[in-house]
Amino acid sequence: MSTNEHAAPVLELTDLSVSFSTRQGLIRAVDGLSLSVGRGEVHGIVGESGSGKSVAMYSLLGLTRDANASITGSVRFEGREILGSGDKAMQPIRGGEIGMIFQDPMTALTPVYTVGWQIVEQIRQHTDLTKAQAKARAIELLGEVGIPDAKRRVDSYPHEFSGGMRQRVVIAMAMSCNPKLLIADEPTTALDVTTQAQILDLMSRLRDVHNSSIVIITHDMGVIAEMADRVTVMYAGRPIEAGPELDVVRHPRHPYTWGLLGAVPRIGERSERLATIAGNVMSPLDVPVGCAFAPRCAYVMDECAARPPWSDGDHRSACWLSDTQRVALRRKES
Ligand code: SF4
Repeated sequence: MSTNEHAAPVLELTDLSVSFSTRQGLIRAVDGLSLSVGRGEVHGIVGESGSGKSVAMYSLLGLTRDANASITGSVRFEGREILGSGDKAMQPIRGGEIGMIFQDPMTALTPVYTVGWQIVEQIRQHTDLTKAQAKARAIELLGEVGIPDAKRRVDSYPHEFSGGMRQRVVIAMAMSCNPKLLIADEPTTALDVTTQAQILDLMSRLRDVHNSSIVIITHDMGVIAEMADRVTVMYAGRPIEAGPELDVVRHPRHPYTWGLLGAVPRIGERSERLATIAGNVMSPLDVPVGCAFAPRCAYVMDECAARPPWSDGDHRSACWLSDTQRVALRRKES
């Protein structure tokens, strides 16, 4: 893992909030997310479905088009404020300076065009390359992401590739304009375990070669441990723990992060049932005013009726437990 802590951040979110007015009430899909991604850094955003991680990324790209959405805060990309920029201003950024990898490669690829045609279109939209030059680049990219016989496969259709190979094509497309930032939304969820490992390895390698920054959105702490330099954990739209990956994974502070880490299966450990986090994923209409995790937290106290503030430092969390209580609880559980 490589970080460049001294360079200006490539992406900086400050107090990003996204809410939707619905007939049932106001849904705060993202509530006060702040994070900073340095050059060449991998920032993992982790949480279960509905935690707001994908909505945050789609909103920063201007892809949240719901007329009832309200988006506030600040999103600075390469030092420029981009939140609220119109489609015209975002067009060269989306797919050019910021590449995107989606969970399901079939939704990112159009089934009726060859993969080569789609990569060439992407390249030509953002560069001055001729069709022939763009095709040569597409073949080069497919080779780079491990598609064998790229010269021939460039003329194949998406359905002619396996799921893992399709995701490689999507990565080639996302990398086609040498993006400064790659946003990967659950890039390995639809893949088998072996292919998952290959795709994560490929993304790490591409990051090293191109020095692109990566935001990886996942529900899987295993992916975070494998890829991320820094982590933000989200629950019910709120960031609840953030810091360097090693600190968050080795010394988690928030009970929800304890649950996420406890749910990662360990090789060689046999157990009757997979560990889960007690309770159900919260309805976005029922998020408590105080700690959002309170209805599922085994350690809830009177203080938790008020929203916990962030602690200080590089590794921060939002929980009312004191350090002494935390250490005692963890000791008791291990
Ligand atoms: Fe649990 Fe309270 Fe901490 Fe929330 S603030 S995680 S309810 S102990």
